[in-house]
Amino acid sequence: MFSKILIANRGEIACRVIRSARAMGIATVAVYSDADRNAEHVEMADEAVHIGPSPANQSYLIAEKIIAACKQTGAQAVHPGYGFLSERASFCAALEGEGIAFIGPKVKAIEAMGDKITSKKIAAEAGVSTVPGHMGLIDDEAHAARIAAEIGYPVMIKASAGGGGKGMRIAWNDAEAREGFTRSKSEAASSFGDDRIFIEKFIEEPRHIEIQLIGDSHGNIVYLGERECSIQRRNQKVVEEAPSPFLDAATRKAMGEQSVALAKAVDYQSAGTVEFIVDKNREFFFLEMNTRLQVEHPVTELITGVDLVEQMIRVAAGETLGFSQDDVTLTGWAVESRIYAEDPYRNFLPSIGRLTRYRPPQEGTADGITIRNDTGVTEGSEISMFYDPMVAKLCTYAPTRLEAIDAMADALDRFEIEGIGHNLPFLSALMQHPRWREGRLSTGFIAEAYPDGFGPVPPTDATVERFAIAALLLSHILGARNAQISGARFSQAERRSHEDRVVRIAGEEIIGHIDDAADGYLVRLPGREAMQVSTDWTPGARLAIFNINGESHAIKIEPADAGWRLRQLGVDVRVQVFSPRVAELARLMKEKAAPDTSGLLLCPMPGLIVSIAVSEGDEVQEGQTLAIVEAMKMENVLKAERKGIVARIPVKAGDSLAVDEIIMEFAK
Ligand code: ADP
Ligand code: ADP
Ligand code: MG
Repeated sequence: MFSKILIANRGEIACRVIRSARAMGIATVAVYSDADRNAEHVEMADEAVHIGPSPANQSYLIAEKIIAACKQTGAQAVHPGYGFLSERASFCAALEGEGIAFIGPKVKAIEAMGDKITSKKIAAEAGVSTVPGHMGLIDDEAHAARIAAEIGYPVMIKASAGGGGKGMRIAWNDAEAREGFTRSKSEAASSFGDDRIFIEKFIEEPRHIEIQLIGDSHGNIVYLGERECSIQRRNQKVVEEAPSPFLDAATRKAMGEQSVALAKAVDYQSAGTVEFIVDKNREFFFLEMNTRLQVEHPVTELITGVDLVEQMIRVAAGETLGFSQDDVTLTGWAVESRIYAEDPYRNFLPSIGRLTRYRPPQEGTADGITIRNDTGVTEGSEISMFYDPMVAKLCTYAPTRLEAIDAMADALDRFEIEGIGHNLPFLSALMQHPRWREGRLSTGFIAEAYPDGFGPVPPTDATVERFAIAALLLSHILGARNAQISGARFSQAERRSHEDRVVRIAGEEIIGHIDDAADGYLVRLPGREAMQVSTDWTPGARLAIFNINGESHAIKIEPADAGWRLRQLGVDVRVQVFSPRVAELARLMKEKAAPDTSGLLLCPMPGLIVSIAVSEGDEVQEGQTLAIVEAMKMENVLKAERKGIVARIPVKAGDSLAVDEIIMEFAK
């Protein structure tokens, strides 16, 4: 076994690898760029080596720097994580040349599976079911349209070197096939430096289901069941689960055995994933093989009990797999949510900044439910523009699917993140969505469920009541504390706190009454029996657990507008509590109207103006491109929401803007 390994990655996956290595008694070396000087993975590792400036192409992507760091520290092996150098055959070969072990597959397997056209050919030869399509290269637009028509629309146009959902689009007719070919080709050239394009049938109502494999250097290959990753946004995974609610034992076995056949065809060793697209009749088709540890591997670990990183290290050191196919059992259900620094209320635009608050839910197992949070950040960490915007991977594991989903909803409610935009509200809303809860998924689910983008979930009667109770408690606890601080002077106020209270919430007024009781409080609402409630809230805390008639609810609390902003399960509302007299006065006051920003184009995130596509005085049509803003290495095209005339453009290309700064004004 190795005594020291280097992790050629950053963020959560570097921390994840360090954890398993440490448990095996192996010393760890981290590498870091300028931006990651104080990062969690550097803190966690036994040693750390600085490898250059922040941009990945000047640090994490330079094989020579990683090899030099190995030599400097005496690391005998490298775990590449995912992304970065993990699927680069030349890196694996260079390590081999230096006598350093690569904790992953061999060069030949990476090469064969790294290319989608080659891997599809090998898969077909190994008897794996592949997506019908054209296996050859495509010369030009006319050729693309001809082939697409032969396959039959709709088709998927893909980059052979593609990854991360890039360089891929659907075409429904000849015109789209021509345009799609050209756009995919140029995207592939700039993203992967390789513009080879191929076309295959677009599988309708597709579900993404993948098989996890692990193989050793002695020819043993075992599959560890499947993961379903159908919840995707722009072909990128958001929520994953294991097992899949869609597979039966026979399909699982067929997919597993075909995956093993493919892996054997390329002498595969280490962990790998064979991705399939599955149609509504449970027919499955090979998509690609990822020759690395996958982002969503924890859900497999939770249902199989296998530590994939440990196994990768063992087989890289030459050990024989310690279990066979018959030993693999799938128990319970696991769900993973990818927590991204992106603002769901602003069309998922990436967000950067400091994590002023970062408090994940408590990890561990209690009452048959396991919570696991893989992360690479801590409170105070900076989410920079240089790397992937994934902040954490929150997993829950329970005996059944619905229990795992409900545990996830609760864990998301207990997760506190402030300082950056994040997708917690979106994930919370997803957990309540009937299609997800019933497992009626396809990769089109998010686009179909949120056709006009995502907004706060409208509160149900049950949430309105729950939030009203919470607000009554908050105001009661504050009132009691204020009375205590000011002593006898406010004893009358204290007495008054036992009067009725008026809760204003979601356009309603609810009259409630609260009394101290033995283990908390007794709350009365009109037409309801008295409820026994308690909370752990103390003034200033931004998360509290409310126990209402024996059911516990985690609710996030923020002071706002002489009241609070309360959030749970994707619902986000403002609540105020008044005495009946003050409520009467408040009714006379006008609602403060939000400033009218409809005539403005505001910068949706901190970023750089790449270009302005219109001039002052221009008439623009709905959907017309107005400006392009770059943030986190992504270009975001801002389009006109409606027809109008551009009155003023106070900024120009090259300007750096803060969020909500005015890019242009339209004539009224
Ligand atoms: P998974 O299937 O494990 O979710 P993804 O395809 O989402 O994997 O990729 C995992 C990580 O690797 C992401 O950060 C993604 O951006 C990155 N990645 C994958 N393939 C490539 C590639 N060819 N070029 C650049 N980045 C890639
Ligand atoms: P990447 O290397 O970017 O991960 P994949 O080939 O794995 O590319 O495809 C990514 C996603 O795109 C899949 O999970 C699926 O949602 C969708 N997709 C790819 N090919 C097809 C297809 N032929 N039919 C339907 N959906 C597809
Ligand atoms: Mg893929």
